[in-house]
Amino acid sequence: MTDTIKHIAIIGAGIAGLSCATVLKQADLRVSIFDKSKGPAGRMSTRRGESWECDHGAQYFTARDADFRAEVLRWESAGVAGIWRPRIKVFDGKSLKDSESALERFVGIPRMTSPARFISDDLNLTCQTTIQEIQKSPDGWLLRSAERSWLVDHFDAVILALPAPQATTLLETQSTDFAAVAKCANMRGAWAMMLRYAAPLDLPFDAVFVNDEPLRWLARNSSKPGRGGDETWLLHANAEWSEAHLEDEADSVANVLLAAFARLGGPAPQAWSVHRWRYADTEPALEVGFLWNDITGIGLCGDWLNGGKVQGAWVSGRELGQRVVQTLAR
Ligand SMILES: Cc1cc2nc3c(=O)[nH]c(=O)nc-3n(C[C@H](O)[C@H](O)[C@H](O)COP(=O)(O)OP(=O)(O)OC[C@H]3O[C@@H](n4cnc5c(N)ncnc54)[C@H](O)[C@@H]3O)c2cc1C
Repeated sequence: MTDTIKHIAIIGAGIAGLSCATVLKQADLRVSIFDKSKGPAGRMSTRRGESWECDHGAQYFTARDADFRAEVLRWESAGVAGIWRPRIKVFDGKSLKDSESALERFVGIPRMTSPARFISDDLNLTCQTTIQEIQKSPDGWLLRSAERSWLVDHFDAVILALPAPQATTLLETQSTDFAAVAKCANMRGAWAMMLRYAAPLDLPFDAVFVNDEPLRWLARNSSKPGRGGDETWLLHANAEWSEAHLEDEADSVANVLLAAFARLGGPAPQAWSVHRWRYADTEPALEVGFLWNDITGIGLCGDWLNGGKVQGAWVSGRELGQRVVQTLAR
């Protein structure tokens, strides 16, 4: 008997890929998600050590879109997200002032990866699978992974829920103008530094928006709800400095960022680690929402197509999912 249920492949288990998969699954389509990492969440990530952990990608998210807000409420009810109320300051290089921003800031609980893990529990996700090539055959889309070569399944549609440069690589062998759109997106890097201390720091803030190179943000990770383990702080370098120093050695980056933290009263940590994000944000982020070709059955979603950030990525994936359902229902 021929299997008539459409089978969709999603490459990328960040929040965009997961929200897309959820819509497709709710429409009773068969969905297989592949991610190169050990787990889902993408840039909503948390580094974990023996007695510590630290969100080193997205720091918090806002929820102004009505559908995203409803989803965040679902996460809150499940105990995997909640509001973070840090004491926030703004530093202009000379003085520290209270932030006037009254935004409602949400975080994953107990860590930033928690919402993605919660969503993916209901989905068919295969991790540690790096897709290196996609190919359209008469029977559907084929995927080649670094770990297992060509996968046996043929897919009716393929969704690239990836940062633009990683989508560009997979689109290179395709005759589609989506490659040109992805190639034009200017995604920028960011250095992140995680600091560990034996005891809580006595500083007059939990987070600072820094308008003074090299930093743009710092936060006391331990002030977020539900965090355990050692006292942990996070520093983010700004895009301009990060781009200029993307290939620098970890030690040299750490020295500069620690000196910047010291100017705000931050003491030397007991231990530290750094992480280089090659694709942190997009300047300017596009506002097209998503891309979809209903003849070839290929789609793209992600933050870079929808204003950036967690909320934009989730909405992008959801809207692409809805479009795919409409197309396949015809
Ligand atoms: C340093 C930093 C700070 C940030 N701060 C904030 C913030 O405070 N607030 C906010 O809202 N947003 C913030 N963001 C942005 C936010 O994290 C992203 O907008 C959002 O998480 C993007 O989701 P996505 O699903 O579009 O992409 P991603 O989360 O990048 O997901 C893409 C997934 O694709 C996988 N992948 C890539 N290539 C392949 C391949 N070839 N095969 C298989 N899998 C592959 C990756 O492993 C990843 O899991 C920040 C990001 C960074 C890096």
